[in-house]
Amino acid sequence: VLKGTGSGALPPMLEQYVRMRDEVAAQLPHALLLFQVGDFYETFGEDAERTARLLGLALTHKSSRDFSTPMAGIPLRALDGHVERLLSAGVCVAVADQVEEPGSGLVERKVTQLLTPGTVTEERHLGADENYLAAVATGDGYALALLDVSTGEFRCAAFHTRLALYDELSRWRAREVLLAPELSGNAALLADFQARFPVMLSPATFDEDAAHSELLTVLGEVSPELASAALRRACGAVLGYARVTQQGRLDMVRRVVRFEPGAHMRLPDAAVRALELFTAQSPQGRTLTDTLGHTRTAGGRRRLRAWLRAPLLDELSIRARLDSVEALTRAPDLRGAARSLLYRAHDLERLAARVATRRATPREVASLARTLDLLPEAAGLLDGQGGLLGSVRTRLTGLPDVVTRIRAALVDEPPIRAGDGGLIRDGFHAELDALRGEAIGHRAWLAELEVSERARTGIPSLKVGFNGVFGYYLEVTGAHLGKVPADYRQIATLKDRARFTRPDLREREREIARLDAASERLELEVFTGLRDSLAEHAEALSEAAGALSELDVLAALAEMAALGGWVRPATTPGHTHLTQARHPVVEGSLGGRFVPNDARLGEDRRTLLLTGPNMAGKSTYLRTVALCALLHQIGSFVPADRAELPVYDAIHTRIGASDDLAGGRSTFMVEMSELAAILHGATPRSLVILDEIGRGTSTLDGLAIAQAALEHLHAAGAHTLFATHYFELTRLETDLPGLINLHVAAEEDAAGSGGLTFYHQVVPGAARQSYGVEVARLAGLPGAVTTRAARLLGALSVQGDDTRLRRELATLDLGRLTPMQALETLHRWQREL
Ligand code: ADP
Repeated sequence: VLKGTGSGALPPMLEQYVRMRDEVAAQLPHALLLFQVGDFYETFGEDAERTARLLGLALTHKSSRDFSTPMAGIPLRALDGHVERLLSAGVCVAVADQVEEPGSGLVERKVTQLLTPGTVTEERHLGADENYLAAVATGDGYALALLDVSTGEFRCAAFHTRLALYDELSRWRAREVLLAPELSGNAALLADFQARFPVMLSPATFDEDAAHSELLTVLGEVSPELASAALRRACGAVLGYARVTQQGRLDMVRRVVRFEPGAHMRLPDAAVRALELFTAQSPQGRTLTDTLGHTRTAGGRRRLRAWLRAPLLDELSIRARLDSVEALTRAPDLRGAARSLLYRAHDLERLAARVATRRATPREVASLARTLDLLPEAAGLLDGQGGLLGSVRTRLTGLPDVVTRIRAALVDEPPIRAGDGGLIRDGFHAELDALRGEAIGHRAWLAELEVSERARTGIPSLKVGFNGVFGYYLEVTGAHLGKVPADYRQIATLKDRARFTRPDLREREREIARLDAASERLELEVFTGLRDSLAEHAEALSEAAGALSELDVLAALAEMAALGGWVRPATTPGHTHLTQARHPVVEGSLGGRFVPNDARLGEDRRTLLLTGPNMAGKSTYLRTVALCALLHQIGSFVPADRAELPVYDAIHTRIGASDDLAGGRSTFMVEMSELAAILHGATPRSLVILDEIGRGTSTLDGLAIAQAALEHLHAAGAHTLFATHYFELTRLETDLPGLINLHVAAEEDAAGSGGLTFYHQVVPGAARQSYGVEVARLAGLPGAVTTRAARLLGALSVQGDDTRLRRELATLDLGRLTPMQALETLHRWQREL
């Protein structure tokens, strides 16, 4: 490990390091140990080389008489920033601190933190968003377990197919994944997994017996819901791993919720990305979460994201949310009051988890009291409300006793650390008050000493001072040194003054130090007692926290609806009617310049084929429809003047813009495999959005694939919106009932100017031509190039027409053609040429 040079035995400190590193490796094999040595966290040997490389640090050497090994360290105060970088580089970190004051011998050290990307609980490493650790096992199908250690949220699900598992896994965006050996041991499968999910894969125990006892230890039972071995193993693995990283403390996890993957709309990762729910595709772009971001608490924001990831299928649940949003939309005063109250709330979910694991700092406990104080007020606001808001109200139990207990014990603004004292209120604890009273007496004596000694010695500038090295001292300036009495003993000489002490001063100082240390210890004890007593309420706290988050999301959706002039959608089976619909994010950035459009889908209009020049607004239109469907199913109002929407079982998208290469596969391969998943998955209740399918290959291939895919979706009965630059496809309108041509209006400017005006208006019928060359001109291609392109295009179109005519001619059944029909055909050809 240390790769040291020299033959001698390891120095004791390095021996301690190696021992701890082995201990850590037994629990977290891939973790890096940061080892406190004074003001630095050090790493040694191979780890030092690795750390230096990862963090860009200078490599030094730790050398003793006959041993030398590489060493790299970071200052104590820079720990957080470096841990952050290590975690995002996929490295887990163990921190060993010195747990006693350094003396002459070897300092005792202890591992105080184990940090991995999926299990960190400190806000500073984590931000306010959710953070999942996932485990996957197989057996009879696939099982997934997901745990957010920072809130205690724990859920699992079983799947029949690997693709369904992948969809769900990408929905939750775990930051760290544990794979059962049957998966990680399969090289092909592992490679596929890693290409799809660039997250940290950590080793864990998936043994069934171990899982069983893990479940018993943490949850107290093996829930009958965990019906398969795969489910139990996945859940057990997550708990076991999390318990190691939390050093045994997993009290915030109280139950596991098994969810049905089918209970939510299928929303593949491609759709999440294409619809820009959480991340924008361009760096300065906005996401749907940003646009809907009227939540006021971190918990509310996480809840909104969870809703967006898992839109509902159950009509009653959708209606329940819509009812509440509507109630809040109609009551601006109530909404305003709720939102300004939420603004004062701290992250109650996280606080509840910190309390449950007995990790809360004094300041966090104070925040908890402040937030709990708001609950009765919040519940009061919701008096008389029914439905979801009524249920929120009953869950917002105030726990007044807890607040009183915290208030009575803690000062108003307690420090972050519990060990430094100054956190317990005067009058709360008699013994503590006595200690403090005594210390105050000694300090008063010191203050008086200055006055009395000035009088006794006749030195007007004599001062009593304090510093960390000498403790209390008497200070006399140079001019008066002659007057210093005999009972003073000099301890320091400065340029123009000297410092002295006296036995009684020493005595007082020792007393003060003793009393301060005793109060600090006692304060810590009192605080720990308080914190432990709060842990009993963890269940009620997390219940209230959930209710608060829910209220926040409902109020945020209502706020958005009110500000944006959104409308409550009606749930209607079988058809989509949107009047004057807008894209919420694009409208947000364009403001009044956004052109609303209608959209109608139904049995007789199940495939909408959209043509029009580039930049006309085809993609925006497609996404508008998809986002309205999604918003409806999270229980939100939608950006339209009127909206009727069915409950879609899935939203599938394949949008050309996300042409970035994933895992080395070519654009075309990515496109085709996404298309394959859509064609396999689409049902008559699915909404499918396809934008520019077939772009990544030659025109004829692309056209053929696009047409075949379109026909397939048409036959499958899905609601499909299909934007294309293949004008040939518009002819399908005559063959496929329910396929409707639409185009986005654009107009060429006055002849010869080469300009193009976009109206962003979706109108019936196919576009006349693609205007590709005009758009290229707008984009600034040199004039000579666009002129040449226009001429080539002319020639190609003629060729295209020629081939089409030849094909038609070749297939004409002359035996059955009447002379009249022959004449008509000739006439049509002439017209088309
Ligand atoms: P296409 O898919 O046809 O190439 P996009 O949908 O990407 O076009 O739209 C191109 C640009 O036009 C967008 O960036 C947006 O600014 C603008 N745009 C699109 N739709 C509208 C609309 N309905 N109203 C106003 N501007 C729009």
